[in-house]
Amino acid sequence: MDRQDAMAAARSAASNAYAPYSNFHVGAAILTEGGRLYTGCNVENASYGLAICAERNAAAAMALSNPDDRNIRLVAVHSPNAAPCFPCGACRQVLREFGCKEVVVEDEDGLRSYPFDEILPNSFGPESL
Ligand code: ZN
Repeated sequence: MDRQDAMAAARSAASNAYAPYSNFHVGAAILTEGGRLYTGCNVENASYGLAICAERNAAAAMALSNPDDRNIRLVAVHSPNAAPCFPCGACRQVLREFGCKEVVVEDEDGLRSYPFDEILPNSFGPESL
């Protein structure tokens, strides 16, 4: 399981996005330190503010599935609407909660990888309490 596998899963998840209002489809795949892969897509709502991003849905799937494997090695994010497609601020904070170490996005040149500290510097996390 590597970055390419995670991005392939993110692409597949994006095809299931429920985005009838924005038409902005996103898929995310979380690869845990334990080697498991969890995916999510964005899910919108007629009450717009209730929309949930792909990354947070993937994190929820991870949390539900295995309490002993909640450390995130990387997250891959794909959208057919934007390349690269980075996690929004809210999702960065949720990914931070589970120790995400790397964010993988893609553009016309292929995969691009960023250390998590670069996309959310000086972040607030569980050890800050
Ligand atoms: Zn988000």
